[in-house]
Amino acid sequence: MTGQEIAFLLSEYLEPEYIHPDQPMSEYTSFRAGGNALCVAEVRTIGELRRVLTFVRKRSLSYVILGFGTNTIVEDEGYDGVVIKLIGDFSNIDIRGNQVICGAGASLPKAARMSAEMWLAGLEFASGIPGTVGGAIRQNAGAFGSQMSDVVKRVKVLNSAGEELVLHPHEMDFDYRHSIFCYKKYIILEAVMELKKGDKNVINEKIEKYTQERKSKQPLNYPNAGCIFKNPKEGFAAKFIQDAGLAGEWLGGAMVSDKHCGFIVNADDATATDIIDLMDKVRRTVYRDYSVRLEPEITIIGPGSGH
Ligand SMILES: Cc1cc2nc3c(=O)[nH]c(=O)nc-3n(C[C@H](O)[C@H](O)[C@H](O)COP(=O)(O)OP(=O)(O)OC[C@H]3O[C@@H](n4cnc5c(N)ncnc54)[C@H](O)[C@@H]3O)c2cc1C
Repeated sequence: MTGQEIAFLLSEYLEPEYIHPDQPMSEYTSFRAGGNALCVAEVRTIGELRRVLTFVRKRSLSYVILGFGTNTIVEDEGYDGVVIKLIGDFSNIDIRGNQVICGAGASLPKAARMSAEMWLAGLEFASGIPGTVGGAIRQNAGAFGSQMSDVVKRVKVLNSAGEELVLHPHEMDFDYRHSIFCYKKYIILEAVMELKKGDKNVINEKIEKYTQERKSKQPLNYPNAGCIFKNPKEGFAAKFIQDAGLAGEWLGGAMVSDKHCGFIVNADDATATDIIDLMDKVRRTVYRDYSVRLEPEITIIGPGSGH
């Protein structure tokens, strides 16, 4: 089926203004690279999400949920399915007492800022992680010694049978940059984070300190997806990459950042292939020199990916 055909058929289930056929994924991912998706569907409510899922299943199409695309690269061949974006109700952030209730499509830095305004401490680490709450829970995103699993109290999900379930931390298999959502076909709908009362000035000082640290250490002037590899048990991925002499290594338009070797940046109109090939080169070199296996932190989407 072509993107236009999907868009036509999908318009029975979703208002046409929320259906976008043949979309360049470079516009939906922070790497600013990659091929087209056949169709992007934006859903504002659980009802719309259910309708789109009914449609994709009926037509045997694959789908992926995409947050802000800050930890994702789409191959140049594109994605032969429907990319579902959670907007509208899913972007809500509500603070009740010391609980922060977020839709899965809500901005994590916004949730961190709003929490700070309400004198709630615990999300400062997340103020510079530029994704959605859903993406962050899936990746168990973290920084400065804290991670999502430290604050997540419960998560509402949709399972593949269409049932809504509430999961608690012990059911989410949280580990370093890992959760149950990396292997189970659950769609995260909403999360409740539990924070602690704190001092607004102290919280804001911490956020400011982390922001400055990111600015001074990370190559934020180029499109990127954060750290490209997980830290292996042997140490820091960036240190192995630096020691292997790969700082400033180019492949096509992609470069291993010389400011922070854990980042690959889109320095000069890189294709997704440039980035993925450079990742392979880094992995092979580090393995050759140190017998250390680097595992990607980012999700790679290509033909045949998705549910
Ligand atoms: C400049 C920069 C700095 C960064 N710093 C950090 C950092 O300090 N720490 C860190 O951990 N990461 C960091 N990242 C990476 C990234 O921001 C995080 O991993 C973030 O949590 C990803 O969220 P997202 O919405 O962009 O996810 P996406 O890239 O959109 O998606 C990531 C994965 O989650 C899945 N997903 C998204 N939403 C849902 C949902 N509702 N239900 C089920 N699955 C879902 C997607 O299918 C995909 O597999 C950084 C990235 C950048 C660009």
